[in-house]
Amino acid sequence: MRPSILFPLFADTRSLPGVGPRLEKLISQVAGTRLKDLIFHLPTGVIDRSYRPKLIAAEAGRIVTASVNVLDHLPPRDKRQPFKVRCSDDTATIELVFFHAHQDWLNKSLPVGSQRVISGKVERFNNRLSMPHPDFIAAPGEEMPLHEPVYALTEGLSGKVLSKAIRGALEKVSPLPEWLDPAYQKKMKWPAFHEAIKAAHSPVKEADLAPETPERQRLAYDELLSNQLALMLVRKQMREVNKGRVLKAEGRLKAKALAALHFTLTEAQQQAIAEIEADMASPQRMLRLLQGDVGAGKTVVAFMALLDAVEAGTQGALMAPTEILSRQHMAGLEKLAEASGVKMALLTGREKGAPRAALLKALAEGEIDILIGTHALFSDDVVFKDLGLVVVDEQHRFGVHQRMTLQGKGEHVTDVLVMTATPIPRTLALTAYGDMEVSRLFGRPPGRQPIETRVLPVSRLEDVVEHLRKALAAGTRAYWVCPLVEESEKIDLAAAEDRARELSATLGPKVGLVHGKMKAAERDAAMAKFKAGELQLLVATTVIEVGVDVPEATIMVVEHAERFGLAQLHQLRGRVGRGSGKSSCLLVYAPPLGETAKARLSTLRDTDDGFVIAEEDLKLRGPGELLGTRQSGQLEFRLADISAHGELLACARDDAALILSRDPDLKSDRGVALRVLLYLFGQDEAVKYLRAG
Ligand code: ADP
Ligand code: MG
Repeated sequence: MRPSILFPLFADTRSLPGVGPRLEKLISQVAGTRLKDLIFHLPTGVIDRSYRPKLIAAEAGRIVTASVNVLDHLPPRDKRQPFKVRCSDDTATIELVFFHAHQDWLNKSLPVGSQRVISGKVERFNNRLSMPHPDFIAAPGEEMPLHEPVYALTEGLSGKVLSKAIRGALEKVSPLPEWLDPAYQKKMKWPAFHEAIKAAHSPVKEADLAPETPERQRLAYDELLSNQLALMLVRKQMREVNKGRVLKAEGRLKAKALAALHFTLTEAQQQAIAEIEADMASPQRMLRLLQGDVGAGKTVVAFMALLDAVEAGTQGALMAPTEILSRQHMAGLEKLAEASGVKMALLTGREKGAPRAALLKALAEGEIDILIGTHALFSDDVVFKDLGLVVVDEQHRFGVHQRMTLQGKGEHVTDVLVMTATPIPRTLALTAYGDMEVSRLFGRPPGRQPIETRVLPVSRLEDVVEHLRKALAAGTRAYWVCPLVEESEKIDLAAAEDRARELSATLGPKVGLVHGKMKAAERDAAMAKFKAGELQLLVATTVIEVGVDVPEATIMVVEHAERFGLAQLHQLRGRVGRGSGKSSCLLVYAPPLGETAKARLSTLRDTDDGFVIAEEDLKLRGPGELLGTRQSGQLEFRLADISAHGELLACARDDAALILSRDPDLKSDRGVALRVLLYLFGQDEAVKYLRAG
């Protein structure tokens, strides 16, 4: 490897002339601490100084560059007034206006009688032209940039200062060995890396900022390729270093459970189970993502895998993100566990004292086959005798860190199955879960009626309540979800409480309320009452979003639906239509609807395919938001824009796979260049792996 060519780019920003500790800190807030971070801080706009009218014709509000004579200085009468400098060309006069200016500086840069080129935004009052604080004042022949990039800034950091730092960093970019496939690069007409990065910082018009320019495409591709290479290398390492073990079952326990099921598995479920079993039976460690829409029937798939693990002589764990969900899993699976003769237990934060100690002892001695629970499963004192398989439900609620902790739980390396109800667009699945294999559960179990979705303005609220009254009288169960008010759980709660009071005043006593601030026990009690039918209408903040299963519920009302995200609405809608009854979802909005909100609601009305919705959601929002992983930094591409560069990602993936199949250790010439690429984009894990190998 020759990372030495990159050394200059890894220098601290403080090494730049003019950058001290204060600026270094400000720069680190917008870009990072190294020069390479600066060069990847691409402009978001461009200032055009090419408008050079005669002053008499200068349009107010535009950036004007003009050659002028300095006529005279007009110092202010008192300090609160600005200092003015009058200038003119041969058509008109202009006043340069300075607040808090030093006279010495003005005398030096704008001496009376001299010629100067000035540039800045002009204003016109009563036909008097002025330019407050010119951006540039240059003597004739002095250089002035015609076009200036505009960067994202932070308070205290000016565009001029940041631009200068970035220019300084760009000077350190020397030609690097080319890592792109020459034929591909030629076909795409992409410049070399150092040319591309410089071009990306030199826009002259808006169009130069578009993700489709050759330079931005190339840089995006570089980033995506490094991401894909790194994921593949890390996955390979995980497989090699953490060799898995063979968990092979004949399916005895599974058969018993299947016989006790009151339905038959769909083809999609059988397929997923087969894929999981093949992984478990192989000597490699399983890292598999099971993707399936809400209600697709993932739980039973996971349970079959857990039974296989038990039959193979190990233990299994099933983790859910909330207490409600783990209890629900426990309750839902109890019968199947009994039928197949395995011992199952529940561990949440609520199990304490002697019962907890007894449970942990039984677990350590291997008397418990399957442990279900929340984050409590991560506690240090939870020791399995021999953990073979971990299933993580609703993955998007777990952080990457937790995923790692979990993998270290078993004495041997455990197989991991991750389930997510947020169908992830293909492109995203590649970047977020590139270290995993993916099974997809398409469609839903049979016997489900499609959910009728209606979008209504809030003026129809009374009709909705009337509709509910009839439905409740007929024994229906329904949810009413209250609006999400940004950043204030208190207001959320107040709104939900008011709504619950109003509804129970009109609809009677069978109205209950659940919200995020409730104690877990209270909330569970309310949920249990709803499940049992003692409550018929459940008013809720979004706590019901995840996984709650009440098949008798057939109506979902979402108030202020325009405030929810697409995926969220889809999840909420998935709470109904779980039984055989005909279900409906009423999305009530407060007009006027913005464009995005309109698009969201009509997408939802037109389709209930989670994968379609996910793709749409990706278009309407950013990828980070979609997965709720902004903090994890997993999807934070600096240069690539997944919604614009999706096709490039697919190419990068194919490219990476091809490269590694030919040169797994990146030892060829191109391989060496690719190591440079990995370094450049901070894929340290991958680089470490290569060094070890
Ligand atoms: P999710 O994928 O959202 O976790 P669940 O596993 O909770 O979905 O399944 C939703 C409901 O569908 C459960 O009540 C479950 O018993 C039921 N179910 C699962 N598979 C089938 C099937 N093959 N036929 C009929 N019902 C099924
Ligand atoms: Mg589920």
